[in-house]
Amino acid sequence: MKKYCLIGEKLSHSYSADIHMSEGFNYTLQEVKPHQLEDFVKNNVFDGFNITIPYKQAIIPFLDYVSPCALKANAVNTVVKKDGKLLGYNTDLFGSYISIKKSGIDIKGKNVLILGKGGAGNALGCLMSDMGAASVNYVTRKGDIDYSNVYEKCPNADVIINATPYGMYPMLSESPILDVNKFDNLALVFDLIYNPFRTSLLLEAKKRKIKTISGLYMLVGQAVKAEYIWKNEETDESDVSISTVNRIYKKLLNSKLNMYFVGMPGSGKSSVAREVALKTNRQFIDTDEEIKKKCSLSPSEFINKYGEEPFRDIESSVISECVKKKSVVVSLGGGAVLRSLTRSLIAQTGIVYYINRDIDKLSLASRPLSVKYGLENLYNQRFRFYEEVADCVVDNNSCINKAVNNALSYRVE
Ligand code: NAP
Repeated sequence: MKKYCLIGEKLSHSYSADIHMSEGFNYTLQEVKPHQLEDFVKNNVFDGFNITIPYKQAIIPFLDYVSPCALKANAVNTVVKKDGKLLGYNTDLFGSYISIKKSGIDIKGKNVLILGKGGAGNALGCLMSDMGAASVNYVTRKGDIDYSNVYEKCPNADVIINATPYGMYPMLSESPILDVNKFDNLALVFDLIYNPFRTSLLLEAKKRKIKTISGLYMLVGQAVKAEYIWKNEETDESDVSISTVNRIYKKLLNSKLNMYFVGMPGSGKSSVAREVALKTNRQFIDTDEEIKKKCSLSPSEFINKYGEEPFRDIESSVISECVKKKSVVVSLGGGAVLRSLTRSLIAQTGIVYYINRDIDKLSLASRPLSVKYGLENLYNQRFRFYEEVADCVVDNNSCINKAVNNALSYRVE
């Protein structure tokens, strides 16, 4: 059986093996130190390999052939061995092209700002010019445009593309651009990072109702094109199937993203979430139950004894454990969304469902805060947070089965 791999300096958070192995490729992750690169390229046993940070440019001098696209982008991310020769291609271009097409935004005439000028940044710059961008500017840490003067130098940016690792797991709360509000014309933010699914940068843009693209679709696109090259020992874009990309993307979303259920106390979110977990064969976690296991007190007992803030601290620590898991269904306490860090963590790592039930139908049993503040006040305090964090609002005013089916029919883009 032919052997393939990914080379890079740090690979523990890569999804590439999941994608290629699920498509039947014998694929492994090979961490290579900078001083080992030349030896690896000349003496490896693989039939083909992908290249990631920081070797997409460094590998070029060791190859026998580099495709015109890869030469233009000055970055190679896919190599195939053919008749003993090493042929280099750039499939990131295809992955990013189909991601932008899927977003529906026309790049023609747009002012594009690319953060980072490494392998992916260069490739995206070429692509943006080819797609008719009016201008392409790069932000780098030591260049003319840097992260402190970018707001003054490029206030007219229509599109921002993050091609740096800034904001990648585990740096979930970091963002290369601290204030997207300073770009009045901003219409699209594309973050090449795919882990987390939505970076802090994308969440800020989403809050402003700006179109966002996560790097996950691009990852699948570049992988499918790499497989095409390995199978055919050459490249031909027209033969890469978008339906294959969509099928793998859907599978990857299911295996990597969690499903979070938020809503008022007594709205039925635990019942809906439990049923969704059953139907999708996923692990179910009720954060109130986890708190009970941890403290030997139910949430209401804990709040009555110690107050709300100490309870939120315990709840936050339980939720930060949940977000490290993959493909689980989590029902969160009604007030969990009050903390902005919690809102960010769940929005970054999964799909958030807001279970909406009319106030007069909410149960007050074992709900000390509902009793203390009154349901209407609690709702007025929390409503905007449910709305802010939700991908999907699920009505739960009729029957649970209907709410479950509505949640299951939601499709993430
Ligand atoms: P690269 O060649 O190493 O370039 C990364 C660039 O980011 C560097 O030029 C550097 O620019 C900048 N940078 C590095 N660390 C930074 C930090 N802490 N803060 C701000 N800037 C920093 O890497 P690459 O291959 O272009 O990949 C860049 C990003 O795109 C990575 O996150 C990668 O995972 C992602 N990517 C995703 C896909 C996908 O399929 N979704 C494909 C390719 C790449 P300066 O030093 O000049 O500032």
